[in-house]
Amino acid sequence: MEERKPIDVEQAIHKIMERTKQGETEMVSIDEAMGRYLAEDVVADHPVPSFDRSSFDGFAIIAEDTTNASFQEPVTCKVVGRIGAGDVTDTIVQKGEAIRIMTGAQMPKGANAIVALEIAKEEQINDETWITVNRPIEKGTNVAFIGEDIQKDVVIVHKGRQIAAGELSILATFGYAKVKVYKRPIIGVFVTGTELLSVDEPLVPGKIRNSNSYMLLGQIASVGAIPKYYGILPDDYELCYTSVVQALEEVDYLVTTGGASVGDFDFVQDILHELQATVLFNKVAMRPGSVTTVATWKEKWIFGLSGNPAACYVGFELFARPVLKTALGAEMVHLPRSKAILEHDITMGNPFARFTRAKAEIRGSDIFVSSVGRDKSDIISALVEANAFLFIPARTKSISKGEEVTILWLDQGVERAIE
Ligand code: AMP
Ligand code: MG
Repeated sequence: MEERKPIDVEQAIHKIMERTKQGETEMVSIDEAMGRYLAEDVVADHPVPSFDRSSFDGFAIIAEDTTNASFQEPVTCKVVGRIGAGDVTDTIVQKGEAIRIMTGAQMPKGANAIVALEIAKEEQINDETWITVNRPIEKGTNVAFIGEDIQKDVVIVHKGRQIAAGELSILATFGYAKVKVYKRPIIGVFVTGTELLSVDEPLVPGKIRNSNSYMLLGQIASVGAIPKYYGILPDDYELCYTSVVQALEEVDYLVTTGGASVGDFDFVQDILHELQATVLFNKVAMRPGSVTTVATWKEKWIFGLSGNPAACYVGFELFARPVLKTALGAEMVHLPRSKAILEHDITMGNPFARFTRAKAEIRGSDIFVSSVGRDKSDIISALVEANAFLFIPARTKSISKGEEVTILWLDQGVERAIE
């Protein structure tokens, strides 16, 4: 077996990003579009509003009629009709006239302003309704004009944007009953290890319950991909090899955990060798997760992650996430990062970069961060306490309390940072 040379994490990510590709697209109903990534620009094929409309409940009038209106000398207009939202009228407003109009209704011809109900005093004189206006109303008051919101032919939402509530509103406005989005990639998951029990089995000496597959299913779902779980494999080379080959016939992405190291039953390297896969790297100068392997085989991706839960978590977030997010057509493919103020001293002098599980807190207008401690890669309690990774670049000797550091936000990281 060749020696495994660690590469820098930045270089590892670069090697991956060089090869990532956007996935195929599909049409989905607007009802299923939430959270998906747009594979087309949304172009306004009509202006919004598409007709001049009232933006208030009131009376459509001719503004010039009120030019000299004052408290002492109010102006009166005769009400000659009524328009509810969704209605239109043929009546043309003439000098000295008004039409009662509701919010969202099309402006009647002749009128050029709306005097709000609260301002117009309405009174009944014999069979007629009149309004009194005691101040000048400027032309255009309370009118939403054609194209004021969105002009025809502009790109209103760009390709690559994740569809959320606002985008759904735009899609519906422009009649997108179906929308073109990127297909959700399917990623297979294997966990390996003869020590693994399933979640419903009682503990027995020497064994542990498999937790990685559940963690990964959560990470995959949160990225927006579709997990396909293949189960637990014992440390048996032939079985592992045939299972991997079979899975690769079904999925374009495969993640395995365990067997990634150099122990007696660590088969990942041998499997990739037999497959003649292209190994992008099989060791990264980082902790946790130094024994992370990423390989490609016939346009397919294999992520060989460590069995250590924390290392597995980091490996997925740093390397599988951007590949899946790119396939999904996302604009932002990495964990979101920001600057934070370190709350304690760190001394290390490690040649490897660190992704320390950390607790970030937003206090006032600043972000503070502290390591949650217990940072060994097999410690799982840190995973629930952490809401961020504190990134410590390779070869950092020490960082003092109060210095600025880089953090990567984990899922729900921001919500959990606001106490
Ligand atoms: P390995 O990468 O196979 O050397 O495993 C490293 C460590 O992670 C060992 O202590 C394993 O018991 C543990 N481990 C491996 N797979 C899992 C899993 N699916 N769930 C929880 N822990 C695991
Ligand atoms: Mg193992």
